[in-house]
Amino acid sequence: MAENEFSSFAETIASLGTLTKIESAVSTAIKTSRVPAKETRKLLKCMSSQEAGNTALFQFMRDLFEKVGFGQIELVRNDIFRYDFAISHSPVCKLYPHVKGKKTCYITAESLSQFFTKDLGLPGTAEEIACQNAGDKRCEFAISLQPLAVYQLALDSIDKSIISGIMEGQDTKKISESLDMEVNEILFRMNILKRYKILDDRYGMTEIGETYHKYGEGMGGEEEDFQPPWKDMAIISNAISASTSFAEAFTETTSREPLWEVQEKDIVNLADEAKKSKSFAELLSKQVKSDMEE
Ligand SMILES: [Zn+2]
Repeated sequence: MAENEFSSFAETIASLGTLTKIESAVSTAIKTSRVPAKETRKLLKCMSSQEAGNTALFQFMRDLFEKVGFGQIELVRNDIFRYDFAISHSPVCKLYPHVKGKKTCYITAESLSQFFTKDLGLPGTAEEIACQNAGDKRCEFAISLQPLAVYQLALDSIDKSIISGIMEGQDTKKISESLDMEVNEILFRMNILKRYKILDDRYGMTEIGETYHKYGEGMGGEEEDFQPPWKDMAIISNAISASTSFAEAFTETTSREPLWEVQEKDIVNLADEAKKSKSFAELLSKQVKSDMEE
């Protein structure tokens, strides 16, 4: 028998059923979880992954991903344009029990990218960089964010005033007076600007900083303020459950009354085919159609 992701038809259907459920849960979760800019900014300003892991936003994200069926997500690295997440004992991995030496969790990667792009307003691409099914200790995902979008969200009007002050040659004390803020608070913000390469080690303007000052000042505009989605967690959970029971009903019908004869060639590389399809539901319907045509 050829080497398959799945060993039998029943297992294929069971795995696809679970994937369809996860996919439907993800799409509902993303639709209901837009995060206000000021909360995303708190995450972007964190100096360590531990600090970032404690933000309300990350905790919400962890709950959301767990509800959807991805297991426990951890934040392991936060560079300014790159965030790495890890999942130990990923439930997605277990859907491919016969895979050896291959990464399988593209649905998790894709969902991370969607969450950042659609809910946080930070366009990014995600890649699975380690996978338990490929022999790694746990699954790891790297998300790379579009730098301009990060700058646009990370810096607020106070940061912009500090940058202007520095450009005008003001010292920290002068800046703190004109903004009516504590020197310590200004220094705290200046360290974040340093992390973002706006300021150099001696708190002078870098080339990036000058470019940002020149072109980035008017960037962004008015921010929409609304309630963060974690205030409505119950509503989100209900919506997720409703969407997964719909998917469940759909796949139960499919597995009880197989509409087509599955050939071994059809289940080979099903995972690869899935990557090309927009959704697992689409994949299922493609499969049904192609078999009916034969
Ligand atoms: Zn994996």
